[in-house]
Amino acid sequence: MRTERAIKSIDDLASAGLVDDALKSKLEEVSRRYAVALTPTVASLIDPADPDDPIRRQFVPDFAELDILPEERDDPIGDHNHSPVEGIVHRYPDRVLLKAVHVCPVYCRFCFRREMVGPQGNGTLTPEDLKAALDYIRAHEEIWEVILTGGDPLVLSPRRLGEIMVALADIAHVRIVRFHTRVPVVEPQRIDADLIAALQASGKTTYVALHANHPRELTPDARLACARLVDAGIAMVSQSVLLKGVNDDAAVLAELMRAFVETRIKPYYLHHPDLAPGTSHFRLTIDEGRQIVSELRGRISGLCQPTYILDIPGGYGKAVIGEGAVRETGGGCYSVSDFRGTEHKYPPD
Ligand SMILES: *Cc1c(COP(=O)(O)O)cnc(C)c1O
Ligand code: SF4
Repeated sequence: MRTERAIKSIDDLASAGLVDDALKSKLEEVSRRYAVALTPTVASLIDPADPDDPIRRQFVPDFAELDILPEERDDPIGDHNHSPVEGIVHRYPDRVLLKAVHVCPVYCRFCFRREMVGPQGNGTLTPEDLKAALDYIRAHEEIWEVILTGGDPLVLSPRRLGEIMVALADIAHVRIVRFHTRVPVVEPQRIDADLIAALQASGKTTYVALHANHPRELTPDARLACARLVDAGIAMVSQSVLLKGVNDDAAVLAELMRAFVETRIKPYYLHHPDLAPGTSHFRLTIDEGRQIVSELRGRISGLCQPTYILDIPGGYGKAVIGEGAVRETGGGCYSVSDFRGTEHKYPPD
């Protein structure tokens, strides 16, 4: 599917041939509640003939989003309770989130911050709020790492990003600046020399965490955009969400993780989906997730193994939930299971 313009409405999706005219009015109801956007790059990845296309499923609205379950929450990971000033989330002592912008180039249908992101939200932090956020970081010497997320920080212009980096460069205790983004995949042409320069500051180490969920997202253009970042000295890690109908299959995940490693991106987190409103069609059980993740161990290189985590609802932070390979059997002995599932005594008899 070819489209030159960004898609920002159900009408745009219909004219691109990605939704049926007959379904438009019901989908408008979804889009009034949750923002819709696809870049031309993402639209072109969708096979319009496949109703179950994994790229479609991530970005094209679905009626199922109108089903909101009692356990779902507007603030699924409890950001609000840990926000001392606008734009900052400080949950762990040594690192903060800096949410400089609330817009994204694409809106993921499973987004954990779907109640906070979107064009109708408050856009970017005001200059006063940004100053207050930077003052907070400056005043807290325990902050070793600043994580720019949002929203997608790479939608900011190189000038605005550069201003933030210059301010952070002046704060001696901040050593690491990490950007969480989908831009290298969804808008690879944006990763140009100006943007790359803006992400770096002397004396600081920059990491870019790339969010991608299906191997087809790692197109040749996306891989080149990442190569430009890595060649410039920026370290990259990956972040994916385990999603029903997208990547809930060991073979698909294996291919995704290999695509990251081939692109010099170290697989970092595989998130269990959060309890965001209207996302139950994406969720599997933790048991199902553990089963899939355990199949990766024997299948792919250690370099390709992500850590399977759950952000505990309510703001308690992340927990590793991958199946433990080791079980205590008493008297200082253990049973350890290998990648085939066979148990072995440790220490051996
Ligand atoms: C996820 C998260 C982080 C980052 O956690 P890492 O384990 O370092 O990737 C930091 N702060 C908040 C509030 C988070 O939700
Ligand atoms: S890019 Fe991230 S913040 Fe933006 S819609 Fe997707 S999951 Fe949400």
